[in-house]
Amino acid sequence: MPEAIQAVKGMNDILPPESARWEWFEDTVRALMRRYSYLNVRVPIVEPTPLFVRGLGEVTDIVEKEMYSFIDSMNGDALTLRPEGTAGVVRAAIEHSLLYEGGKRLFYIGPMFRHEKPQRGRYRQFHQVGVEALGFAGPDVDAEVILMCRALWRDLGLADVRLEINSLGQPEERRAHRSALIAHLEAHRELLDADALRRLHSNPLRILDTKNPALQPVVEAAPQLMSYLGEASLKHFDALRAVLDAAGQPYRINPRLVRGMDYYNLTVFEWVTDRLGSQGTVCGGGRYDGLVELIGGKPSPGIGWGMGIERVLDLIEQSATAPPAPVPDVYAIVPGPEALAVAMATVEALRAAGVSVLMHAAGKDSWGSMKSQFKKADASGAHHALIFGADELARAEVSIKPLRDAAAAQSARPLSELATWAGTLRTA
Ligand code: ATP
Ligand code: MG
Repeated sequence: MPEAIQAVKGMNDILPPESARWEWFEDTVRALMRRYSYLNVRVPIVEPTPLFVRGLGEVTDIVEKEMYSFIDSMNGDALTLRPEGTAGVVRAAIEHSLLYEGGKRLFYIGPMFRHEKPQRGRYRQFHQVGVEALGFAGPDVDAEVILMCRALWRDLGLADVRLEINSLGQPEERRAHRSALIAHLEAHRELLDADALRRLHSNPLRILDTKNPALQPVVEAAPQLMSYLGEASLKHFDALRAVLDAAGQPYRINPRLVRGMDYYNLTVFEWVTDRLGSQGTVCGGGRYDGLVELIGGKPSPGIGWGMGIERVLDLIEQSATAPPAPVPDVYAIVPGPEALAVAMATVEALRAAGVSVLMHAAGKDSWGSMKSQFKKADASGAHHALIFGADELARAEVSIKPLRDAAAAQSARPLSELATWAGTLRTA
């Protein structure tokens, strides 16, 4: 036998019954997006590499070491598997002039790719749902996108996800802070790690984002960006806080929350939990008013977030709020080939009437005894067995046997009157 081929490390198969939880999550997200009037966009998984290099910034974890970049061997194009969703959506909005008649509220769901060290909550192919509100400059929309996360936690039955917010101000405010920050870090140079030393002059703000516990004292004592913000930035932040307060949404101001991408300005936020070990951020986002122009569009503000679906599902699994995986309404028991034509026509009619049917499938050389078929019906979780026995068919009937209620009796139904009884088998 040839050697078995395995999935790429850090890329997971999502199989039943786990996939049912994914579908339920996605259904919940789509219903939420409808309530908030966010429309679905589907952009390619592969984009030109310069989109991310320019959009995310060269000195970021993603661009420096996490991208799956390759040269298209057919034409030499530099391509990258998307590591995040914002750059592609913004590219599409520019390319198709989506912002000409005002703002757009968009969402996406799909796989992202980052070459990271696989561990719980951190994979090389992972999945995000994200929103992008393009063309809106005010803090009202900052609050809107944050509050829709709260609504999602509620819909999913998740209680303990906390909100952290910060403001990154504007580029010129960050420049003043940057000099002070570099001076502080320079003064503690001996305590910095290799990453921090490398970023000291290229992207010192990012050092505040470090996950290295050894750096915490230096980082905690660093000058805070908030004290460098001008009046307009502070006003935007205060207005967001006022809406969150009025909406009864608690938050913590985390002055070290800087986010991993260069494109953010003003509002940044994360939803965090203590229940996922060190991968505790389930959703992160912020405002990116410079990105549209950076990618080549007419300047236009934007704000959005990206949520790690694996991490949210991990939380859901722990709190057991997901509905059980769906089971068939009916398992069709087909004793032998002589019953097949009637059985097939009947289950097709039932399916057309909205009943979910799992039909016994014969083997290549054997049909399967009634006993083994009943065993399979039981194992399938189906609510009813439909029995196409010879006696039943001779009377132009089918027997219905409740499988989950020992007290309920088996009964017969005329095939010709299917329309009158099909509905009683439907559970969803
Ligand atoms: P982290 O600090 O955990 O690496 P990040 O800042 O790189 O996160 P973002 O780029 O903001 O993450 O992505 C938004 C969300 O996507 C994260 O909050 C997280 O829930 C999820 N996410 C990011 N990278 C991964 C990954 N490799 N595997 C699974 N989920 C991820
Ligand atoms: Mg990361």
